[in-house]
Amino acid sequence: RSFARLPLSAAMQANLAQHGYVEMTAIQAASLPLALAGHDLIAQAQTGSGKTAAFALALLHRLDAARMELQALVLCPTRELAEQVTQEIRRLARAADNIKVLTLTGGSPMRPQMESLAFGAHIAVGTPGRILDHLERESLDLGRLNTLVLDEADRMLDMGFFDDIAAVARRAPKQRQTLLFSATYPEGIAKLAGQFMREPKEIKL
Ligand code: AMP
Repeated sequence: RSFARLPLSAAMQANLAQHGYVEMTAIQAASLPLALAGHDLIAQAQTGSGKTAAFALALLHRLDAARMELQALVLCPTRELAEQVTQEIRRLARAADNIKVLTLTGGSPMRPQMESLAFGAHIAVGTPGRILDHLERESLDLGRLNTLVLDEADRMLDMGFFDDIAAVARRAPKQRQTLLFSATYPEGIAKLAGQFMREPKEIKL
């Protein structure tokens, strides 16, 4: 269960140790080797399982900080979750130089988000409706995206976000990694996986 077994940079290993992350949680141990190897994943994970670090480490692993382009997008059901995810990614990103993470959720004014995007970001974390709004206004471009994460996908479906998620996924390159985390498997999850994932590995704990 030690993080030391993973192919992470020495800087990231040191950063994890500094945060007291010594042993991987069950979801991390099951998902990280596959995610770091580039597979798409459907992972069953509850809040509190350490799922955020599981996808954050995977997307940071693929990120090139020298390229100021949006390389990873995390879709979350709520603003609160998006903020927590942003904090966790920022904490883990401290091992690398100057990685810019933006939170883009509804309920906040559009213009400051557009201005922040104009300065450039490596990672965006947001709610489906607001992300789609940015894509339609062309303040956000997914043309260089490497990693798409659907966090708490079942909750997003419960909230009626299927079409928004689909519209976002269609605007991302086909050559990408998609990581889906969900506590339950309603029918919509299989539909999302069938349409937007490539031979996903399934992790059930
Ligand atoms: P999450 O399920 O992603 O919301 O994470 C729950 C909490 O566990 C967060 O406060 C994380 O910072 C923490 N955490 C995640 N992974 C580890 C780990 N391997 N060791 C210790 N704490 C962790």
